[in-house]
Amino acid sequence: DPLIEVRGLTKTYRPRRSTPTVALDDVDLTVGQGEFIALVGPSGCGKTTLLKILAGLIPAYDGEVTLGGRPVSGPSSEVGVVFQQPTLLPWRTILENIMIPIEVQGLDRKAGLERARELMSTVGLDGFADKYPKELSGGMQQRAGICRALVHDPKVLLMDEPFGALDAMTREFMNEELQRIWLASGKTVVFVTHSIPEAAFLADRVVVMTPRPGRIAEIVGVDIPRP
Ligand code: ADP
Ligand code: ADP
Repeated sequence: DPLIEVRGLTKTYRPRRSTPTVALDDVDLTVGQGEFIALVGPSGCGKTTLLKILAGLIPAYDGEVTLGGRPVSGPSSEVGVVFQQPTLLPWRTILENIMIPIEVQGLDRKAGLERARELMSTVGLDGFADKYPKELSGGMQQRAGICRALVHDPKVLLMDEPFGALDAMTREFMNEELQRIWLASGKTVVFVTHSIPEAAFLADRVVVMTPRPGRIAEIVGVDIPRP
């Protein structure tokens, strides 16, 4: 079943003091329930724009974008988002940061705490709950950001180059963890990356975008055996 449906999506940025940019041009995309899509393409082709629209962070666009049959017009509790930079709140501890979606959505605190600790353990953050972001390395902050994106158990996980700033070993570890999380939970994932090997390793389908304006050039099914 399709969970995400994009039809004729065009996004034109119209900055007040310069010429408009067409970032996405007539994009169609369907993502099935439980599917893992990698979005690849050169810098500036509109990958981040597409992800932000799916996340409800850009409410003005032309075309149709639906999530579970409902038009996307703002942030949804069914979505978790991870950006390249960790964006943790510096005055909150790691655990308090991870708990933000639970608080914002008024979900059960006890169950949320249990899940937060479980996720922290999965990504190797045991023992860091009461530290502040600046006490952790960039890679560890990013892992905390991934826990925050998953703590409310969203149906959809949107990730924009989440491991771009990590060293090769941490990146590989995180790829394996992400695949485990995805396989165990059946989440629908849209993953933006510059790395074709990473895309091929993680995704069911690789969606290739053309540069300026962004169009979908090709959708490649990846038929690799999974563990
Ligand atoms: P990618 O993620 O593939 O690098 P982006 O979605 O960031 O691509 O950008 C697509 C195009 O839209 C680029 O030409 C970029 O310069 C432009 N763009 C992105 N954000 C804005 C903005 N807020 N205002 C104006 N132009 C933008
Ligand atoms: P990077 O950000 O350079 O990728 P990692 O996140 O991979 O670094 O961290 C590597 C390891 O170093 C961690 O798993 C942890 O054991 C240790 N480490 C990093 N920062 C700290 C810290 N602030 N306190 C204690 N151990 C740390």
